[in-house]
Amino acid sequence: MISVAIDGPSGAGKSTISRAAAKLFGFIYVDTGAIYRTIGLAAKLRGIDASDNEAVISMLTGLDIELRYNDSGEQCMLLNGADVSRDIRLPDVSMLASKVSAIPEVREYLVDMQRKMAQMHNVIMDGRDIGTVILPDADLKIFLTAGAEDRARRRYEELLQKGVETTFDMVLDELVKRDEQDTRRAAAPLKAADDAIVLDTSGNTLEQSVSEVCRLISERTGLTPEQAP
Ligand code: C5P
Repeated sequence: MISVAIDGPSGAGKSTISRAAAKLFGFIYVDTGAIYRTIGLAAKLRGIDASDNEAVISMLTGLDIELRYNDSGEQCMLLNGADVSRDIRLPDVSMLASKVSAIPEVREYLVDMQRKMAQMHNVIMDGRDIGTVILPDADLKIFLTAGAEDRARRRYEELLQKGVETTFDMVLDELVKRDEQDTRRAAAPLKAADDAIVLDTSGNTLEQSVSEVCRLISERTGLTPEQAP
């Protein structure tokens, strides 16, 4: 099986670029942030403070989290049988996901689910610790980054398109805080693996970034994308 690990801070374009590249190579795209978001949402629905480690850890035993693909090939998250794919995208869930993801027991709980995906399929998996912890032997590791303002602008436009009411400053502020939290935590902090290729997408169009990632995958695996991006 071939695995490509794509890590990086929020809003660097990881999911959009990974999804597009996976489609071109016929790989499965695994968005691991969605799994942490599902746990953040579970805490919210149960009225549990996401910073209360003990409460979050004891919540885990009652959770049934499933990652599935629908008929259009999109990743869906199920929480105790209910499809929560939309709810996990609400802005407040981003920070909750970041909080619960700092708890080592939460990360431990999710390791197998992520590794199994890579054992069963050719994958492009994106997250924060894929190249460093989850798939240390990935065929290719990319650390995707961009300036904070660039990333916030992309995230702001995405949210506007989804009809979420927010301002650019709020998005920038939240993004900077979340990255700080993800970088400073002791458990699997956000960082590039030593053998990762760092790709700065500041100022790139989506097409340029997809084509750069596809070029790296082709170089490393010898495969060619089905069609030019
Ligand atoms: O990628 P996304 O922004 O959806 O991730 C939400 C949060 O989940 C991140 O801010 C991060 O704290 C956490 N996360 C993580 N490890 C991953 C993926 C996401 O800690 N592999």
